[in-house]
Amino acid sequence: MSTTAAPSQSVTTAPLPAEVRVAIVGSGFSGLGMAVGLLQDDERNFVILEQADDIGGTWRDNVYPGCACDVPSHMYSFSFAPNPDWSRSFATQPEIWAYQQRVVERFGLRPYVRTGAEVVDATWDGATQRWTVQTKRGTVVAQFLVAGTGPLCEPKYPDLPGLDTFEGTVFHSARWDHDHDLTGERIAVIGTGASAIQFVPRIQPQAKSLVLFQRTPPWVLPRPDRPITPIERFVFRRAPLAQKLARLGIYVGRESFVLSFNHVAKLRGLPRIIGLAHLRRQIPKDAELRAKLTPDYQVGCKRVLISNEYFPALNAPNADVNTSGIREVRPHSIVDNEGVEHEVDTIIHGTGFHVTDQPIADRLVGADGRRLAEHWSQGMEAYRGTTIAGFPNLFMLVGPNTGLGHNSIIYMIESQVGYVRDALRRARAEGIGALAPRQPVVDAENEEIQERLQGTVWNDGGCASWYLDKRGRNTTLWPDFTFLYRRRVASFDTESYETTPAVAAPPARPTARV
Ligand code: NAP
Repeated sequence: MSTTAAPSQSVTTAPLPAEVRVAIVGSGFSGLGMAVGLLQDDERNFVILEQADDIGGTWRDNVYPGCACDVPSHMYSFSFAPNPDWSRSFATQPEIWAYQQRVVERFGLRPYVRTGAEVVDATWDGATQRWTVQTKRGTVVAQFLVAGTGPLCEPKYPDLPGLDTFEGTVFHSARWDHDHDLTGERIAVIGTGASAIQFVPRIQPQAKSLVLFQRTPPWVLPRPDRPITPIERFVFRRAPLAQKLARLGIYVGRESFVLSFNHVAKLRGLPRIIGLAHLRRQIPKDAELRAKLTPDYQVGCKRVLISNEYFPALNAPNADVNTSGIREVRPHSIVDNEGVEHEVDTIIHGTGFHVTDQPIADRLVGADGRRLAEHWSQGMEAYRGTTIAGFPNLFMLVGPNTGLGHNSIIYMIESQVGYVRDALRRARAEGIGALAPRQPVVDAENEEIQERLQGTVWNDGGCASWYLDKRGRNTTLWPDFTFLYRRRVASFDTESYETTPAVAAPPARPTARV
């Protein structure tokens, strides 16, 4: 995994195939993992539809200063493509994106990718047992549709009075404007999530002033980041087992968080003590600032953040943490709820993503002609976090209740990919043309998941988070150990599905790539 990627635009911009067995939407970790899985099953009749001009998903889009992973690198990679060359224990965005590019090259995925092919509509046709997928580059018909669009795809902007009258520069952390020089500027940052705590320390030193509008203080724990030494890398290259063991150690360590987040409430005191000590150590003198930055909810209720730079940045003389909230935005300033006007040149939104109202749901039309967004009007739900009643032959990677607050999402993606592969194998072997989970099975599983979430720190930790939808239901997180999820999706359970015999032979296996 150490060759350099060389994107081949001539392939990615080639015309769309007219018909494929599988259309994969998105080329982030989900789409790439699915594509490798298909190739491992000798399934080459697929296409990857990518809306942007390159592969990578959220790790292509998030190029803000300081962007890095807060899951250790050895765990934040495909199990089938270890990278012995990670330079740090927590890889940075450029390194992760380069890793994705190398996966594309190593597994020969580039010829399957079509860039600029944003899916605008996909409609299921029960008569032909096919999805008609309309993209900005044309239409492709697919027997199976795999949505690998993920929850961190569409930036969410705050609805602030007067924002459209602002005459300075405005951008979102996921759409960073690198052409704009922040040096010497008066900057306002809105939001204190995983993104903001990474970019704030990078831009604070160059700002004339930085005001951080904080609605809720996050729990921030120390970041045990360090360079991976050349000797370690040498060992990982020569003895892959050593890296597997390192990965296993990280996996087990991260899984142990579930004990406190879910099962043993008494353990929740420990991360709280660590978080408070971290804050006191990094801001020893300013009790008022410490008070503003002290959360009043349990650790884990929102995603736990790790940083050694965030608190010192906020403790700098040119930084101010504003907790009063924003009343309005004027052409050159922000007025807070206490009536204080803050002159600013640039506003940066660190306000997150449309997680429980993902745009892809507006674009998928199921068997009864309803859009997925309508089907989900009372909240997202799926079976095994992957398939949806009334939406035959649709698989959603990182679907409802498969997100994690404690471990690597790539583990979940690989689990789901295994389930989808099994479904496709069974469909071919058993002559199934269409499959969708039975509604009572979906309901039973979701009731069980919601029950398991009761009493967990994610539901009852005393905060509002993007884990919860607007009705307060947790439709995003898997509530337990991840190996329990993997066990649940270990094989495709046809009996939980309504299946229809194939009306036509599945699209033939092509001898050449699409
Ligand atoms: P986020 O966690 O959703 O945080 C959004 C922040 O914006 C929150 O502090 C929120 O306040 C605030 N906010 C939203 N609307 C607001 C408004 N109208 N007025 C004031 N404040 C407002 O978004 P994110 O930081 O981009 O992170 C999203 C997810 O991306 C993370 O949870 C994580 O899964 C992923 N991520 C991962 C990494 C990584 O290292 N792997 C790095 C970055 C991001 P409240 O807290 O009060 O809601």
